Formats: sequence, structure tokens, C-alpha cells
Amino acid sequence: MGRLQLNDLTKVFDSGDNEIVAVNDLNLTVEDGDFLVLVGPSGCGKSTTLRCIAGLEHATSGQITLDDRDITYKKPKERDMAMVFQNYALYPHMTVRQNIGYGLKITTDLSKGDINDRVERTAELLEIGDLLEKEPSDLSGGQQQRVALGRAIIREPEVFLMDEPLSNLDAKLRTTMRTEIQQLQSDMDITTIYVTHDQTEAMTMGDRIAVLNEGELQQVGEPLVCYHQPKNRFVAGFIGSPSMNFLSVHRDGETLAHEEFTYHISDTTRDAIADASDDLTLGIRPEHIRLAESGDQNAVETTIEVVEPMGEVTYAYFQIGGETYTASIDGERRIQADETVHVVFPEEKIHVFDGRTGEAVK
Ligand code: ATP
Repeated sequence: MGRLQLNDLTKVFDSGDNEIVAVNDLNLTVEDGDFLVLVGPSGCGKSTTLRCIAGLEHATSGQITLDDRDITYKKPKERDMAMVFQNYALYPHMTVRQNIGYGLKITTDLSKGDINDRVERTAELLEIGDLLEKEPSDLSGGQQQRVALGRAIIREPEVFLMDEPLSNLDAKLRTTMRTEIQQLQSDMDITTIYVTHDQTEAMTMGDRIAVLNEGELQQVGEPLVCYHQPKNRFVAGFIGSPSMNFLSVHRDGETLAHEEFTYHISDTTRDAIADASDDLTLGIRPEHIRLAESGDQNAVETTIEVVEPMGEVTYAYFQIGGETYTASIDGERRIQADETVHVVFPEEKIHVFDGRTGEAVK
């Protein structure tokens, strides 16, 4: 079992004259066997949260429970968790065999033979069986990361904690390891919390993602729910690449008034935003912007400034009122820089955020 709960977890770093609230009243539940990705910009408190869970930092207040046992102030080794770090943290003078087996050697009374059997099975699983007698300095980054994973897996802990484990690998290896970690996690069915600031890892790896900003939880949910139904402007802007476009508008009767255009809304949208303030933000994802056809309502004239053909799609950058926006359009449509076009933000695809609170209202 491994149901992990954070209740009002807060961590404040006090460095003399200034206090940094790294984690602020965080409430989060990770069910047994679930894969949760903790994502957010640099400095938002991801690592601190993970380190509190591991027992490497002391929570300032709040509670951490594992299967309803309070572990908030337990020592790391009493928590039955294994952590994988970005820099692998292997013992440099031990062989791969010793590195993988070390945890079992010091925490269990298994015989040398039993430990060796388990080391060999783990190494087979990670396809590093032929590297067992080598030292870390003889290994590539990807191989070292496999050894670090092996060291975590062999203990069969209740919880895996992974802190940006793939960020030192090149793009191709990251893709391979991403799939392997997912596969391992699902085969072993061990509760996992995985910290990253990488969009792709966040969207593809976890059952759920938890988005943090400035120490506070913004949204927790399935990746596609966070993508399609962001709870606020921060999540909308953080999840998705290229990012959602935001335009400041003002409610004006049946329209949203932008300084450069007027956007007519239906009754449905008007009702949805009825309780919001008059200052609003219209959000539209790049892939939802269309080039207008004749007769389109709400078409806005603009000039394409830069085009980036990516193959399947082309990113087209254009300006409205001095701000640059991005459209992702069909790669087969030949679009040129300096071309004058009309763009449309289809109403069924727009998001609207309260300009004051940032909360999503549509
Ligand atoms: P990154 O993605 O850059 O690793 P993060 O989201 O993991 O960032 P944390 O490392 O948890 O963020 O840091 C959260 C905040 O706490 C930051 O403002 C950081 O400077 C601060 N912080 C972290 N550790 C300490 C420490 N030991 N002493 C003082 N402040 C700290």
C-alpha cells in the first residue's frame, strides 16, 4: 500500500532577515499506485515539497501521512520511500553491482547471495546486466540514470520520489527513458511522485498532474483536463506549448471590447461570465486560431510577422495592439511573413478569465 496525503503542508525557509514561503498550505492526495507529476516554474516549490515528503526537509507546519500513518517528522530511512535525483547521486567508488545492492545491504539482513540475485534481476529489468562490474565514471549519463533507478527499484518501496530524473539526458534518451519509467511504474504499481518543469513529461507521464505556482497548488487533475479546462490563467498559460494567447478585453453589453477589435458573444458566453468583473482576459490556444473565411464573424485583421514551418503545423506570429500572438496552422497552408490575413478566435474554443482574480469563468 502507499496512499500519500499532504495536509496543509507548509515550508518556510528563514534566512535571517527574510522568510521564503517555499510551500504554502498544500493539500494533495496521491492514491496507492498512482503516478502524480508535480509541475511548475523554477522556484515554485516542487523540490521542497518532494524533499519534505522524503524527510530531507522538515515541514514548518502541516502533516504528511502514508496509509494514514503520520510520517511528518519521521527520519528518511523510516519512510519506506526511494528517491531518484537529477544528478543520479551514485557512489563513485562502488561498482554498479555495489551501488544497486547497497540499500539492501544496510537496511535488511538478506544474505549476500540473495542480494546478488535481486541486483541481477533488477539489472536485467533495466537492461544493464552487462555493466554490473563497472564504476559510475565508466558509464554514460543514460546508464548512470538506469543505475540510479535500479537502486530505487530494488528496495520495492511504498513510494518512489523522482526529482527531474531525466533533465541531464539528451532529447532522444529522455524520450526513451520517459516511456521506460512509465512502464516500470505501471508494472510495479508503486505510488510515484515525479517532479519536472518539462511540459512533455507533465502531459504524457502521469495519471494526474499537480500544478504549483509560488508554493501554492493551482490545479490537480488529469493532464488533458488541466489542458482543456484550466482553472485559472496561470494553469492556462503554463500548460501547453506554445502557450495559450491572452488578450485583455472589457465587457461591453453583448461584446468583449478589445482596444483593436470588438468580439461579439452569444448568450451562453454572456451568461457564463455574468458574475465576473468587467475586466476580463480572453484566452485562445494557438491551435484553435483559424484563418478567416468570408462571412466569418469576429475576424481580426493582422499581418503575419514571422512563420516557423514545423512540418505538420506552421507557427505564425502576428501582432494585435502591439502584443505578439501565436497561431498554429495546418502545415500545408503556405503562409508567408508580411502576408495580411484575418484571424478568428472561435467562440466555442475561447477561455475567459476574470481580469482581477485570474479565475476561469468560461
Ligand atoms: P527548480 O525547478 O528551479 O528546482 P523548485 O520548484 O523545485 O525549483 P524549490 O527548489 O522547491 O523550487 O524552491 C522553492 C523556493 O524556496 C525558492 O524560492 C528557493 O529559492 C527557496 N529555497 C529552496 N531551498 C532553500 C533553502 N535551503 N534555503 C532557503 N531557501 C530555499
